[in-house]
Amino acid sequence: MPKRVYFFGGGKAEGQGTQKELLGGKGAGLAEMTQIGLPVPAGFTITIDSCAEYYSAGKRYPKELDKEVRANIARLEKTTGKKLGDPHDPLLVSVRSGAARSMPGMMETILNLGLNDVAVEGMAKKFGDARFAYDSYRRFIQMYSTTAMGLSKEPLEEMLHKLKHDKGIKDDKDISAADLKDLCGKFKKFYREKKGEDFPQDPIVQLWGAISAVFNCWEAEKAITYRRVEKLEFLKGTAVNVQQMCFGNKNDRSGTGVCFTRDPNTGENVFYGDWLINAQGEDVVAGIRTPMKLSELAVKYPAANKQLYQVRSILEKHFKEMQDLEFTVEDEKLYMLQCRTGKRSPAATFTIAVDMVKEKLITKAQALSRIAPEDIERLFYPVIDMKVPKAALEKAKLTTGINAVPGAAGGEVVFNAADAEELAKKGTPVILVRKETSPEDVGGMHAAQGILTQTGGKTSHAAVVARGWGKCCIVGCETLNIDYDNQQFSVGNKVVKKGDYLTLDGSEGIVYQGKLDLVKPELPASYYTIMKFADEIRTLKVRTNADTPYDAENAIKMGAEGIGLCRTEHMFFDTEARRQAIQEMIVADNLEARKKALAKLLPFQRDDFYGIFKAMKGYPVTIRLVDPPLHEFVPHAEPQQRALAEKIGVSFEKVKHRVEQLHESNPMLGHRGCRLCITYPEILEMQVRAIMEAAVQCKKEKIAVEPEIMHPLVLDLKEFKFLEELTRKVAKDVCDAAGVKVPYLVGTMIEVPRAALLADQIAQSAEFFSFGTNDLTQMTMALSRDDAGRFLPDYVDQKKAAIFKDDPFQSLDQAGVGKLIKIGIEGGRGTNPKLKIGICGEHGGEAKSVKFCHKVGMNYVSCSPYRVPIARLAAAQAVIESGAGSTPKASKPSKSKPKARIPKIKGKAKARA
Ligand code: PEP
Ligand code: MG
Repeated sequence: MPKRVYFFGGGKAEGQGTQKELLGGKGAGLAEMTQIGLPVPAGFTITIDSCAEYYSAGKRYPKELDKEVRANIARLEKTTGKKLGDPHDPLLVSVRSGAARSMPGMMETILNLGLNDVAVEGMAKKFGDARFAYDSYRRFIQMYSTTAMGLSKEPLEEMLHKLKHDKGIKDDKDISAADLKDLCGKFKKFYREKKGEDFPQDPIVQLWGAISAVFNCWEAEKAITYRRVEKLEFLKGTAVNVQQMCFGNKNDRSGTGVCFTRDPNTGENVFYGDWLINAQGEDVVAGIRTPMKLSELAVKYPAANKQLYQVRSILEKHFKEMQDLEFTVEDEKLYMLQCRTGKRSPAATFTIAVDMVKEKLITKAQALSRIAPEDIERLFYPVIDMKVPKAALEKAKLTTGINAVPGAAGGEVVFNAADAEELAKKGTPVILVRKETSPEDVGGMHAAQGILTQTGGKTSHAAVVARGWGKCCIVGCETLNIDYDNQQFSVGNKVVKKGDYLTLDGSEGIVYQGKLDLVKPELPASYYTIMKFADEIRTLKVRTNADTPYDAENAIKMGAEGIGLCRTEHMFFDTEARRQAIQEMIVADNLEARKKALAKLLPFQRDDFYGIFKAMKGYPVTIRLVDPPLHEFVPHAEPQQRALAEKIGVSFEKVKHRVEQLHESNPMLGHRGCRLCITYPEILEMQVRAIMEAAVQCKKEKIAVEPEIMHPLVLDLKEFKFLEELTRKVAKDVCDAAGVKVPYLVGTMIEVPRAALLADQIAQSAEFFSFGTNDLTQMTMALSRDDAGRFLPDYVDQKKAAIFKDDPFQSLDQAGVGKLIKIGIEGGRGTNPKLKIGICGEHGGEAKSVKFCHKVGMNYVSCSPYRVPIARLAAAQAVIESGAGSTPKASKPSKSKPKARIPKIKGKAKARA
């Protein structure tokens, strides 16, 4: 029989920190903190597996659970010396959820469970404080009614509001005992009216109600949305943590707080957090009151503050990770209620990882493993352009709030999540403005460019969720006067309506009216250190797909080590003169006319290649000859066809006829790729001449060049040989004429399944392979890369067909397309062990696919410039995951050469990259 309940308390715990998948993050953290001697109130955790059993049995508890819970209550009563429901000194507990991954604000919490009409009086007497007892009771009735029993929150909030309003009270803590008692009566009356029964007085009935509430909230819409957005759909359920209460709302010598062991925005090694005096549980996170800074704790409660600093140090050393902590101070004594790995901004992710390597807490390999591809993407988020004049900034400035998540964002104002999602779907950038956010808003928060809230601190729901996504967020902007009904807010006499444009500066916490120019930010120094760690470890080279000297230069800055794909046809679209020359070539109906048009294109291409070679400073450059079907270059509408006819001096009918001739039913399987050069070898001659003349020019100027001439869509050896021989002939002619020798390679893309199957033969002549996995996916899966988007989402939707885990055009289909790649590599290297092999489809910049490329022994991946850092990181992680890159001891960032062992891959050792 599986164990379903794990006890912790009195310095011992049945579970441990490593059991997140079973006990949830919170349960595992509580167990671990108990074990290492931190002040944790006793309690027990009902496992995640029990929640999964509950759902698989149609929302019924496993039979044995009741017995185990009862036994653990008895144990808890023994450990605490108190009894549930005791009329004089009742044991009170909190009931909280906790999944295996942090889902901030997603799951519900019930505090002060165990109170009833009798116990509350006992508690009042025992503590000599009726206000405190009734405040606890009203909180419990409120949370239980809404969270466990699903009653609407608003009427109860309204009753509390009305009471404060009638009595002229601002702060909850100033409500008198008598008023709180009266309020409890009203809450219970409301409960009776709505539920048709009295508020439960039996603590065991209350406890099961609360456990059900936690289990049931796993399937609440907001929780499902969060898991969908965060790709956490694989999680099985939530654990339930039942823990003895300690009371932050006991008096002014008590309080509650949330903190991070390092600054979650910058990563700086400073203690960071918020807390509230005389408050309980969710008050800080919910953003109901604007909290105090952690530094004020030292002034108010030096003893608790000292304890908290000790806990911070112990936990960081223990977990070797930045921790997110929840604590309560009761009568100036500290209690720890939660520790878990803290969510952080992308910049902080890098800085914390690098600092921890310096502090010898973790190894470089561990630091690298902690960075996700999304962290890199999010580092590149925009900031307000420094060029925007100060006066313009001042003029646009509307108000300020708390700078919760850095970066800048602009968009049209919306006031609810549904509008945010709807507008974002249409491509309109939006700023979501809310009094405070709650888990229901997650979908809209994700869709928005930025988030602005009226209340809350840096650990409020809005801040925590937005930070995880690296999304610009300003909270606690108390000057906002939001009017949801009229879809507008005001700041003083300025009114901002739905649809008006706002720009947020999340780094400074400033809200601007109107649209300000944004630019990409400066990267933190730690980013470069992490990239250096990655480069030390990885064995896979990273190139870029670039068609212009500008892209090439940009890619070098991102760390590219060559060009893996230069799509030459992109150069034909650049200017009107180029477009006209290629169109003239296509419309030409004889060889002579075609050659004349091609001669016009030659200098353009030569200049481009020269610029690219120069920018790449001797790195290899793979240039692919023309690939798309020719109909893509000519106009299809009559007015444009007439204009073309006039420009190139032929009849309109001739142009029209030629365009009709080029029409194909299946152009992707038609006259494209190297098939064009089989039919029109003069195109090949022009392109190879342009490449080699540019290379010769570089040689003469002592610029290192290494062109790799690549033929697309090759089917087999015969076809390749035809192209190769002609390529070599033209190259030789150019070199001989110039009297200059240029090293170059001739190779092929592997994009057609047949080429992968016959790779052993093709490798007799080809000097390199580059897997064009866009086409290879298209042709292997018979999925049109242009049209499959219409139905592919159904295949990927895990709640629908769930046929694919990922879109195969984004993340390589390793089972199918991957199998062909393996066949291709084995065949190619079987014939020529030195064969250079890379990938240049979109997959070359996707982390999982990059790791696959490493595993199968490619020499390089090639991807768009902005994905180069992702590929560098993934390539390093691939080495670490293979077990080859783990360095046993923590070490300082070093400038030394890589020492990582290179995984043995057949035939790869001597291949060049
Ligand atoms: C490919 O097919 O993977 C490729 C890189 O070529 P293109 O995307 O230009 O067809
Ligand atoms: Mg292709």
